[in-house]
Amino acid sequence: MDIYIAPLKFSNVLMLGDVVSELSNRFSSKISLIEIQLNLLKYLSKERGQYFSTEIIADAMDLTGKYNGKIILLTDVDLFVPVLTFIFGEAQLSGKHSIVSACRLHEEFYSGKSDDKILFERLIKEILHELGHNYGLLHCLNWDCVMHTSPGIEEVDIKGNSYCKKCASKVDGYKSLYF
Ligand SMILES: [Zn+2]
Ligand SMILES: [Zn+2]
Repeated sequence: MDIYIAPLKFSNVLMLGDVVSELSNRFSSKISLIEIQLNLLKYLSKERGQYFSTEIIADAMDLTGKYNGKIILLTDVDLFVPVLTFIFGEAQLSGKHSIVSACRLHEEFYSGKSDDKILFERLIKEILHELGHNYGLLHCLNWDCVMHTSPGIEEVDIKGNSYCKKCASKVDGYKSLYF
């Protein structure tokens, strides 16, 4: 099954290319970039200064019916769902769509120092995590597994950067070299 990456206000074009190559290495599935037209302002909560991810996903569904595969929305804007202060991403369990925000994966968000290598590692982890939910995976108790829950940046950094064997077996096209 193909995997499509749809940037939505994601400014780092170089990193986008790196994400496509990394996923192409890890999956036998075809990885492609697609363009979708969504005005994110519609999802901005003025009180919170953040964007409501569930509604973004809902509208993206209407625009991506022609694509047969998983669709990852990638954005720089800060995301929320009403019960949480922020989220790194959201996915439909056993569904087609997910969204990942790089906003709070940037090292400068925490220490003020920019670090593209750390950002890339975190981004790949969160993309794999949300994709895992699309493939029906729940959270995993194994800290070496990218499906471990990561409510904060510490957990993102601590957890592994790939699926454990048990989780990987449910992810379509994930190469055994990586687990
Ligand atoms: Zn999760
Ligand atoms: Zn696992």
